[in-house]
Amino acid sequence: METMKKKGSVCLVGAGPGDPELITAKGMLRLKECDAVVYDSLSSDRLLELAGEAAERIYVGKRAGRHSMKQEEINAILVRLGNEGKTVVRLKGGDPFVFGRGGEEILALQEAGIPYETVPGVTSAVAVPASVGIPVTHRAMSRSFHVMTGHTLAEGETLPPDFPAFASLSGTLVFLMGMGNLHPIVEGLLAAGKPETTPAAVIENGTLPEERSVRGCLGDIEERVREMGIGTPAIIVVGETAALDMSSTVRRPLDGISVSVTGTASFSGRLIRSLTELGASAENICRLGVESFAAGQEMSRAYKNLGSYTWVAFTSANAVRLFFEGLLQAGGDFRSTGHLKMAAVGKGTARELRRYGFTADYVPERYQVEDLAEGLAGLAGEKDCILIPRSSGGSRAFNEILEARGIPYDDIVLYDVKTEWREREALADRLRRSRYLTFASGSGVEAFFDGLSGEEEKALENVRIVCIGAVTARALEKRGRKADVVAETFSIQGMTEAMVRDAADGSAAGVFEAK
Ligand code: SAH
Repeated sequence: METMKKKGSVCLVGAGPGDPELITAKGMLRLKECDAVVYDSLSSDRLLELAGEAAERIYVGKRAGRHSMKQEEINAILVRLGNEGKTVVRLKGGDPFVFGRGGEEILALQEAGIPYETVPGVTSAVAVPASVGIPVTHRAMSRSFHVMTGHTLAEGETLPPDFPAFASLSGTLVFLMGMGNLHPIVEGLLAAGKPETTPAAVIENGTLPEERSVRGCLGDIEERVREMGIGTPAIIVVGETAALDMSSTVRRPLDGISVSVTGTASFSGRLIRSLTELGASAENICRLGVESFAAGQEMSRAYKNLGSYTWVAFTSANAVRLFFEGLLQAGGDFRSTGHLKMAAVGKGTARELRRYGFTADYVPERYQVEDLAEGLAGLAGEKDCILIPRSSGGSRAFNEILEARGIPYDDIVLYDVKTEWREREALADRLRRSRYLTFASGSGVEAFFDGLSGEEEKALENVRIVCIGAVTARALEKRGRKADVVAETFSIQGMTEAMVRDAADGSAAGVFEAK
């Protein structure tokens, strides 16, 4: 039977105003299912992470020094992907149809006969004022709100003919893309008869950790914006409600704190969720992946000779997973490990062992490689032989301790840690804006610093580095940096609590700028 070519489709998804949690549940679903995501600068990395690992990621926005892609080029990319049979998500800031040129993309898809749908988003026109406590309507104060682009008002040019009508409306006026034309906007509103005392506000990077805002009135807003150096993207709000402050009063311990996370996709995802629940804005900047050597010569030999070992020691959950997967792939089965005693470095590793149906015979009290080695050295003797399948660059302390006691072992490289950087061009900036950078393993520290440029390393100067435990902290020290925060318990919760404690100390001591 001839296989039918899968029909592609394009879904325009509103990404929300900035805070990645403000995407809709439906938008999230579409992202999870897509084969390709086309995005620009207004969409958060965290949202991109929702797309599957295999999904193609295509950037069509503005990059430092370069212009954004022309709309026609973007349309062409969407049509091409659709024709290739892909399920495409076109992620657009805010709502796709609010100054998002979503309509033009739909027209191109219609013309090409490609199925499409639109998932609305939370528009910045409403959510950004709300983020600083400005309601766009309020009973008896503002009975309407009106959204306009300030982009078409080029300096020196006359205002569009309908501007005076717009200015005379009594409701709240919201300008998007108006920062380049703040002056003609203010002049135009005054000329149309709005009093100088009309409340006005400008909000930059609304709903994001970098959010800043100024309040004033038509008479002084320009000067205040200049004083504070407010930049883009920003929204201008004019009207009585711009003087209100209904901003949230619930405080969470990591509110406004930006955290850069490194680690495997699954670990980072869990840590980011834990931090975000407490108010932080956390992003994975460097994803660690593993390259397995389970099918390599050394491991193949070890799998064949499992009978010659008495213990197998696991120093990470990855090692457990790759060891057993490799055994099956090599044609073996789990019965060949029945005689082996198993040691795990910590809770997470022991848990992974349980998943494969094994209970660890030994887990040290403190979760460190040295403790594992010391403990094993107490349990094993010269007649034993310990198999240590682990990552390259594992701690030499393990070997030294066993050698000192004359305990035979085989230290075999089962896998290598590889790095995958997110948004590499923006990394130095991202690091500079972060209060914390987290590491969950010594190999993670090494892989990260091996890949770091001089400029990026400099960007770390004021960042507080958080390590999951002492071994990770020691790996960091070898790179010339002391850990600022070390978790007491070797877990996601332990890391989260350590940051909460540190942030509380910091703000009490007045070390950090308040948001
Ligand atoms: N479709 C988007 C708007 C795109 S036009 C929406 O519905 O929100 C881009 C303009 O939106 C920017 O120039 C700025 O005026 C505004 N904007 C978007 N995100 C913003 C944010 N987080 N903070 C302030 N303004 C924002």
